[in-house]
Amino acid sequence: MSKRIRDRDGMYDFAIVGAGISGAATAHELAGRGHKVVLIDQYGPASMASGWTLAGVRQSGRHPAELPLAQAAVALWQDLAERLDGPTHYRQVGNLRCARTDAEAERIKAIVGEHQALGLEMELVSGNALRAMAPMLSPEVICASFCPTDGHADPRSTVTSFVAAAERLGAETRFGQKALALRVENGRVAGIETDDGFVAAGQVVLAPGVYGNDLIAPFGYRVPFEVMSATMMRSVPMPHRDMPVIGVANGDTTLRQEVNGEYRIGGGHEVWDGQLALDPWPQVRPRARSVYELIERYSALVPELADVKLDQLWCGLIDQTVDALPVLDILPEAGGVVAAMGFSGHGFCLGPITGQILADLAEGRTPALPIAPFAMDRFGAAADGTGVELHG
Ligand SMILES: Cc1cc2nc3c(=O)[nH]c(=O)nc-3n(C[C@H](O)[C@H](O)[C@H](O)COP(=O)(O)OP(=O)(O)OC[C@H]3O[C@@H](n4cnc5c(N)ncnc54)[C@H](O)[C@@H]3O)c2cc1C
Repeated sequence: MSKRIRDRDGMYDFAIVGAGISGAATAHELAGRGHKVVLIDQYGPASMASGWTLAGVRQSGRHPAELPLAQAAVALWQDLAERLDGPTHYRQVGNLRCARTDAEAERIKAIVGEHQALGLEMELVSGNALRAMAPMLSPEVICASFCPTDGHADPRSTVTSFVAAAERLGAETRFGQKALALRVENGRVAGIETDDGFVAAGQVVLAPGVYGNDLIAPFGYRVPFEVMSATMMRSVPMPHRDMPVIGVANGDTTLRQEVNGEYRIGGGHEVWDGQLALDPWPQVRPRARSVYELIERYSALVPELADVKLDQLWCGLIDQTVDALPVLDILPEAGGVVAAMGFSGHGFCLGPITGQILADLAEGRTPALPIAPFAMDRFGAAADGTGVELHG
């Protein structure tokens, strides 16, 4: 167990901004290492991307730089519920990525080859083998990649379990409190100015999702990401099927069945127009056209779902960087604060390992996994971009 960085009354060793999966996992990890931790969120646990997400726990389709993190995360997901003593509803049911055209089939074959070369268990399936895995697929699907060690989990349950476990380890939570600015004294981060006073801390971890740049901009930093809005929907509970997560080559449609039988369906994205309703949790409303197009796509992929009754529609915001990789780094010009943002639609699966990496960085240790590809300074003068596709 590590020694506390500082232990003065009223001062935390670590303040973490953001109670999505990244911040909640970090709070749990640091509290478990014996530190005095506070987790701050302007709304509450899983109130933004970590609640809006499709929540695929996927290694396939990852950038080679991200694959080791995804594999390490999947190893942690196996017994996460036991370690948190709370539900995650993790299911390792596999992930099928389908080809609907000859061009997509070529793409899928290439992905399978690349990932096999990187050591990921993955195969190309078609014909009877594919229909046996997913009889509900349209006959139009030509072939698919299959990764048996992928799966999914329930996002709100998982984040809530991380928070509850962190609290049992002594972490404090401040929900409904907004971080306004980092305070840096003598070149070192000293805490956070919030809308409910100053929170003194020996180190600060920022995991604020799409709002990340607001807190680092005063120090000259900006992660070049575009905020994209992805359309999501959920059905009423349906009879349970043994099925993998089903997606497509270009990531514009993904669906899975939740443990209670509801289908969670997502895909398609556009640049966010900045509108967010609070009722009381943050909500981004989908456009009718985007909903219509997603229904058309998923019904073409899984025709039996064309008639399913929809219970909920929403949009999720994605911090899409120019290279579709996150920033996991220390920012020296911001007093050495630890920053995690720009997960580009991949951060749910990574959550458990992100927590360990951010805890290591916050403690001043070198993480065991290679994180150089996630350095802030890789961007140079890169501009924002919208052309990167989502992997679902
Ligand atoms: C539609 C959709 C589908 C996705 N599908 C997948 C998938 O299948 N698999 C996968 O791995 N990933 C997926 N992702 C991505 C994944 O959900 C995110 O990368 C991940 O949840 C990010 O977690 P986070 O904790 O970093 O950020 P968030 O969950 O966004 O949490 C950030 C938190 O910070 C808080 N905050 C921000 N600013 C402040 C402030 N100033 N003061 C206090 N609090 C603040 C917010 O309220 C929020 O709760 C998807 C995302 C979306 C939107």
